[in-house]
Amino acid sequence: MSTENQSNIFDQIEAMGHEQVMFFNDNETGLKGIIGIHNTTLGPALGGTRVWKYDNEQAAINDVLRLSRGMTFKSSIIGINLGGGKAVIIDNPKAKKDEPFWRRYGKFVENLGGKYITAEDVGTSTQFMEYISMETKHVMGKPFYLGGGGDPSPVTAYGVYLGMKASQKKLTGNDSLEGKKVLIQGVGHVGQYLIDHLNKENAHILIADINENNLKSVTSRYKAEVIDVHSVYDTDMDIYAPCALGATINDHTIEKLKCSIIAGAANNQLQDELVHGRRVKARGILYAPDFLINAGGVVNCYTEIDGYSKERTFGITENIYNQTLDIFNVAENSEKGTQEVALEIAMARINSIGKIRQVR
Ligand code: NAD
Repeated sequence: MSTENQSNIFDQIEAMGHEQVMFFNDNETGLKGIIGIHNTTLGPALGGTRVWKYDNEQAAINDVLRLSRGMTFKSSIIGINLGGGKAVIIDNPKAKKDEPFWRRYGKFVENLGGKYITAEDVGTSTQFMEYISMETKHVMGKPFYLGGGGDPSPVTAYGVYLGMKASQKKLTGNDSLEGKKVLIQGVGHVGQYLIDHLNKENAHILIADINENNLKSVTSRYKAEVIDVHSVYDTDMDIYAPCALGATINDHTIEKLKCSIIAGAANNQLQDELVHGRRVKARGILYAPDFLINAGGVVNCYTEIDGYSKERTFGITENIYNQTLDIFNVAENSEKGTQEVALEIAMARINSIGKIRQVR
């Protein structure tokens, strides 16, 4: 959906179907941000809080709208009872990101009365979730010692790994990744846990990152070949795993990509889900739907609501393998891209559960 250049916020939220968007500001702490609530048919809107230095306000609006919409489909497709939401906090020179800052933010979340549940995302940590939890119970991703599920990244990485194996299975009939050249673009939290799985399977690991320390953290523990960040799309590989930022699959990269599978953790990897999803397919590349294979993190937050259980979390996440294969099989017999098929399945669940909820 291409709505990003529209300047009228109501046109934009109407086009993307959001229920509510809340802007918040606190002069005392310098806290400024936006909470986007996309759809609450299945349950409260859960999604992390991202702290980012946006180039301008429109970029922050675009991000919160895209990310909150993505959460709606992610929770739906993995079969949990959550809606889609997300928050962005604008990193600005006045922001003093300490205890009062996060507790003030917790109060804004509390004001929504449970319609939005927050969690960790880029730029936040379990420590910040603890501060938020002092002002609201509508926060997940708390540390283990507070009954939370802790950092969701290991579960996210496990789901991505299963999505990758399912892709390999579809392509060759065998899901082994042994000897496969896998390029992980972004070796942060999720990327590093993913490498651990790939290393155990003797995959050929290639890594690219703008952060030297993260590259060193990987090369000091695993056999991995470092690729320059500017050479990612010119590198021969079997599997491209975007684990940094979104929209890396676009008009400039699709024709260059030298891989047969794309399976990674980043949200919104396709700049335009429908157009670029079909173009990837036309190039003969199998695309594992991002919001399905990276859903382990939201599952980790979901199971915290009723009392965290590692067993239940991994049990739900394991479904990613078969669900990915099912989507590939449906897409194979149509002109649609795999992301498009996944979106339709997610939307169908929301529509059917929405009808059931109206019955007394
Ligand atoms: P992270 O911030 O820990 O890691 C991101 C890494 O990408 C960092 O090492 C950073 O230096 C690197 N990076 C940034 N720009 C880059 C570029 N241009 N080229 C190469 N590397 C670059 O984040 P994370 O928690 O590992 O999440 C990774 C992605 O997965 C994000 O897009 C996130 O939204 C998504 N995701 C994460 C989770 C989770 O559980 N953490 C869940 C779902 C989706």
